[in-house]
Amino acid sequence: MKIRFVAIAIVFLCCAFSAQGIAQKREWNEYKVSHFIIYYKSIPMDFVKSVESAAEQHYRDIADWLGFHREQGWALKNRGKIYIYEDANDYTANAVNFQWSHGAAFASEKTIRTFPSAHGFFDSTLPHEMTHIIFRECIGLETKIPLWFEEGVAMYQEKARRFGAHRIVLTAVEKGEFIPLNELTVMRLYNSSPDSQVELFYAESASVVYFIINELGEHNFVRLCRALKEGKTFQQALQDVYFRFKSLADLNTAWLNYLERIDR
Ligand SMILES: [Zn+2]
Repeated sequence: MKIRFVAIAIVFLCCAFSAQGIAQKREWNEYKVSHFIIYYKSIPMDFVKSVESAAEQHYRDIADWLGFHREQGWALKNRGKIYIYEDANDYTANAVNFQWSHGAAFASEKTIRTFPSAHGFFDSTLPHEMTHIIFRECIGLETKIPLWFEEGVAMYQEKARRFGAHRIVLTAVEKGEFIPLNELTVMRLYNSSPDSQVELFYAESASVVYFIINELGEHNFVRLCRALKEGKTFQQALQDVYFRFKSLADLNTAWLNYLERIDR
């Protein structure tokens, strides 16, 4: 999900839904482009066209990056759907009832729901939600992975934001508020979750996935995703690809060591 309050750096965030749907209303206008159908109500056409060009560009970039397992693109009857609600109230009332959410991805329906003033609409919300869907196409809709991994991969596409994540995590370490990976894995976020907790969850997710991809090698990240697609548990896949990580605790230690190194 994404946060509405836009605090320090990271906070955009979204919900990644893999299966559920939402009843459609009749008042949507429809604008079909190469890989998307954009649904909108009364927003200006030039905004809709800006969504088209941004979405098509992000689609190419993300598919190039994560395209190692996908079998078909988003053309013709297989287009992705982007619903642009009127505003935050319309979105919260009719799409996702999370006060801090700015956008949501429904992977099984290839559907994104958001609103024009969502935080960083073109550079954060759109690529984040699209990454959720394309990533699920790569690893499988039913594959079980930790939420921090799912969100971290989506945030990796928020290029302007991922760099602020390390600083937030280091500050949490200094304050004794850091959440270790084994706790992050079982942590759940709710509508009532404090903003600070939501922000730290996403910052840690972005930071550790950045570490996994950039420091441990993109080719190993691809191997990790392949192992997940083949049905291995996250723990098994992690051990198979990164022999030195026998547990999440080992990954946690290596990540913290990395953060300490770059902080010197
Ligand atoms: Zn998300």
